[in-house]
Amino acid sequence: MILTDYNLELKNKKTLQFIEDVTSNADEVQKKVLEEILSRNAHVEYLQTRGLNGHTDRETFKKTMPVITYEDIQPHIDRIANGDTSPILSSNAISEFLTSSGTSGGERKMMPTIEEELGRRSLLYSLLMPVMSQFVPGLDKGKGMYFLFIKSEAKTPSGLVARPVLTSYYKSTHFKDRPYDPYTNYTSPNETILCPDSYQSMYSQMLCGLCQHKEVLRVGAVFASGFIRAIKFLEKHWRFLCNDIRTGTIDSQINDQSVREAVTKILKPDPKLADFIEAECSKDSWQGIITRLWPNTKYVDVIVTGTMSQYIPTLDYYTNGLPLVCTMYASSECYFGVNLNPLCKPSEVSYTLIPTMAYFEFLPVQRNNGVNSSISVPKTLNEKEQQELVDLVDVKLGQEYELVVTTYSGLYRYRVGDVLRVAGFKNNAPQFNFICRKNVVLCIDSDKTDEVELQNAVKNAVNHLLPFDATLAEYTSYADTTTIPGHYVLYWELSLNGTTPIPPSVFEDCCLTIEESLNSVYRQGRVCDKSIGPLEIKIVEPGTFDKLMDYAISLGASINQYKTPRCVKFAPIVELLNSRAVSSFFSPKCPKWFPGHKQWINMN
Ligand code: AMP
Repeated sequence: MILTDYNLELKNKKTLQFIEDVTSNADEVQKKVLEEILSRNAHVEYLQTRGLNGHTDRETFKKTMPVITYEDIQPHIDRIANGDTSPILSSNAISEFLTSSGTSGGERKMMPTIEEELGRRSLLYSLLMPVMSQFVPGLDKGKGMYFLFIKSEAKTPSGLVARPVLTSYYKSTHFKDRPYDPYTNYTSPNETILCPDSYQSMYSQMLCGLCQHKEVLRVGAVFASGFIRAIKFLEKHWRFLCNDIRTGTIDSQINDQSVREAVTKILKPDPKLADFIEAECSKDSWQGIITRLWPNTKYVDVIVTGTMSQYIPTLDYYTNGLPLVCTMYASSECYFGVNLNPLCKPSEVSYTLIPTMAYFEFLPVQRNNGVNSSISVPKTLNEKEQQELVDLVDVKLGQEYELVVTTYSGLYRYRVGDVLRVAGFKNNAPQFNFICRKNVVLCIDSDKTDEVELQNAVKNAVNHLLPFDATLAEYTSYADTTTIPGHYVLYWELSLNGTTPIPPSVFEDCCLTIEESLNSVYRQGRVCDKSIGPLEIKIVEPGTFDKLMDYAISLGASINQYKTPRCVKFAPIVELLNSRAVSSFFSPKCPKWFPGHKQWINMN
């Protein structure tokens, strides 16, 4: 025991020292990372055709290589997906594609990755608990109840697997065969996490979490939305779960053999525990249910930065205000950084980018003043703008930047699409507040809907109104997270010229057409994960949008420049819209969704 403690302490110390070292030498590390990436990939087609000529220094790299978006490299990615194995982007073999929740043309973006990136991701994970243990001692004395899930995967025409980065990680030996470590000791057995059926996966993880309730010291999920979904699941299914705990048998709906076997090792008949859970869950109020059922929980580990901040009040309610801890910032392109002050308030969270993960550059972002204080980032960069990118150690406190990465897997000066603000420094490495994802207007779970997608979807839907001589005068939208799961609400103001009343089924068709027109991540959330509820259209009284404009102007918007916002968040505006709603319609069924890109269907 003493030996274990000693080892853990030593391991934590080493990890914290690593963070000290790489943040103190941030610039040197960044220089080395770029040299390493460019020298090993000197002969790849993408760098050669642009004339980098084997140079590995920052100056030549910046002068020669363009700053790009996904669409710029999509033809290369399509070639890899279609079976071209020549070194196009990376000299290493592409091991799989990571499908991002960011989309292009309605489909998930596909990030090529190489085997060794798994090691880099594991390294970032390994930093989290040593950091946390500085603030919350004793976390090695119990377990973490984390609701973790895999998503479906597809194969590209060439046979490469395409799946989300977390699915890739959980299925890797880095996760599955991790050696015993008190910090990765979870209540969910691997089999329950790796179960492809999301109901069985959730049910079995909840059951194991309840059985081990006294051992649980921390709870979490990746995003806040996922954790709230788990609470909702418990609300719906606690009677079955209690029955299983009372009798020591597993509900017959759980028919995945490996899940049953794994749960059997944990589940023992425990009528007292079943009585306790039943008593708590039958109470009228579910306020503080997390601390009631898992009384030793010290914090909730979920991302509540960015759009996820909309879930903070709900989490506070269910957890009786336990600390909400955002530990890391990552993406399919690359894992970026960690929060070195994890007990800070959600509004103050900043992530320290770890300089070994990739070569980072920063494109300054201007904020337009005004009511919307919209963020302006040019879509394609001219020569001058390309020169404005700064290195990691050169960012300025308080300034906002768009993140640009050059990764070990073959992305060069790639715009991730996130806007960050410099909040401070850890040694020489900057710490960033996550501000937003560019252009995203609506988000409930991992879906990211931008204004153009919304506009197209609405355009398709209004065709249903043509036979009634009705047109859409104005519209806006709102991500309603007061329902669980949350759902998109569209506020429509109509111009009615015809005399035939519009039947409700027509508006329901409009809802479904919008859903069918939205991107694949939205539709997957509706169909597979049930993490997004049916889309709603609220018809508002004529003149509502004039009132909205009056309101914006009363807050200081300029009359000349006023444009109807295509998404609203500000509570008084949502209230104004709701108070003028005359009817409401929901999508009657789920939209269609298939794993993989639509163009691959019939190709596999
Ligand atoms: P994906 O590529 O689907 O893994 O999504 C990655 C994106 O999720 C990032 O580029 C961010 O926009 C968002 N994201 C990841 N981590 C965080 C975080 N800690 N806070 C806010 N947004 C995050």
